[in-house]
Amino acid sequence: MKYPKLREVREAVTSLFTAPYTTKFPKEPHTPFEGFRGKPTVNDEKCVGCLTCSNVCPSYAITVEDDKERGIRKIVRDYGKCIFCGQCQNYCITGEGVILSDTDYDLSTFDRKDENTVETQEKELLLCENCGAVITTKEHIQFLHKKLGPKAYSSLIDLNALNDELKLSKPGETKTEVTEGLRRKDTFKVLCPNCLRKVLVNNLLPDE
Ligand code: SF4
Ligand code: SF4
Repeated sequence: MKYPKLREVREAVTSLFTAPYTTKFPKEPHTPFEGFRGKPTVNDEKCVGCLTCSNVCPSYAITVEDDKERGIRKIVRDYGKCIFCGQCQNYCITGEGVILSDTDYDLSTFDRKDENTVETQEKELLLCENCGAVITTKEHIQFLHKKLGPKAYSSLIDLNALNDELKLSKPGETKTEVTEGLRRKDTFKVLCPNCLRKVLVNNLLPDE
């Protein structure tokens, strides 16, 4: 019990002759420590709109709206709700879509809707050609194809989706309607997992 008392006295005397630990921010600029977790900074070029960050965000600061009419996914990041935990950065599938800045941290504002506090991104959706369900974004599928390389062709889902990048034909030229009900040939169209399952099950277990 004696030692802690002596240690506290030594620390108190030392502190009389050392500079204060606290800074004078905002009166004077503050330089954060290395690895400081400041404002999440989005790199739209590297973000594919996959929603992983939205799913892991503990404070629901990242919300998503899919507009099937326009074929657009809107991602809204509200830094007024952000707790700077870094989960979005840790789990970002591209590793570069969002990174917490170690210099941008002063987010004080009188308007919680200003553009420094609420940021919006838009990504083009990939929709099922049979039922119109949202599969994911086109950038997400292209990212997965790049990552998987030739293995990606073991999936029948999206040769049409890839055309946006490969430019094998004019836009819309390869897109075909599912007109005769789901049949085996439709596995080569852009189908959501539900419709793809129906095609496969119908072909394995035909009615007649
Ligand atoms: S830092 Fe944490 S709270 Fe902030 S947006 Fe990312 S996951 Fe959400
Ligand atoms: S996890 Fe990364 S790539 Fe996916 S939406 Fe979030 S920032 Fe974009």
